[in-house]
Amino acid sequence: MTSPPDRLASTPSGDPPATASATARWRHDLPSGVRWAFSTAPDPAAAVGLGAGSAVAARQVHGARAVLVRGPWEGDAPEADALVTDRPGVLLAVRVADCVPVLLADPAAGVVGVAHAGRRGMDAGVVAAAVALMAEVGAEPARTRAVLGPSVCGRCYEVPAAMRDDVASRHPVTATRTWRATPGLDVAAGVLEQLAALGVAAEQVPGCTVEDEALGSVRRSGPDAPRWSGLAWRELP
Ligand SMILES: [Zn+2]
Repeated sequence: MTSPPDRLASTPSGDPPATASATARWRHDLPSGVRWAFSTAPDPAAAVGLGAGSAVAARQVHGARAVLVRGPWEGDAPEADALVTDRPGVLLAVRVADCVPVLLADPAAGVVGVAHAGRRGMDAGVVAAAVALMAEVGAEPARTRAVLGPSVCGRCYEVPAAMRDDVASRHPVTATRTWRATPGLDVAAGVLEQLAALGVAAEQVPGCTVEDEALGSVRRSGPDAPRWSGLAWRELP
């Protein structure tokens, strides 16, 4: 075990989740045994006190496909950018290094989800796909909560002007200017707006992956930057 659970920053159930002193290790307990966490540990399952290697992750392709998970993959992991489960003991993981990790839960329904929302996934509607799949197994958007982990911020995510204008034509809230006064995008702002439109209450853990060296960032370190994990699960009764 590389990072025992008591090293996780923790907030008691009911408090706002955005109180991480160290975004590298963050955990929030929701009602009905539902848990959310962010972890930079190489084995995030062990880091949250679950079985080593038990986290279930998809092959992320910056798309908008959501998959229902009821146990470990049989064979290769599918290509998907959102995972949903209605089963306790299934640890869903999303891996990021600048993209927005989105954790979702309807504790009353016992349904949790994770989504990998970078520029392309946000634009393609991965968050809506996750919320829709959660509804298919009993979740209700009005009861669903979401938290966004740190991601590249709108001041650091510099893009060509044509790309900024293209994305902003569909998601005006994402348009920014960077610290260098060049065109930029705030993908998290787009995700928050999408969640609000879906009726899902959302909060955001503060932080920017480019600016916080504790978090892997492709923008800062290149394509081999270490990925870190967003996790959602429901404890076994
Ligand atoms: Zn930043």
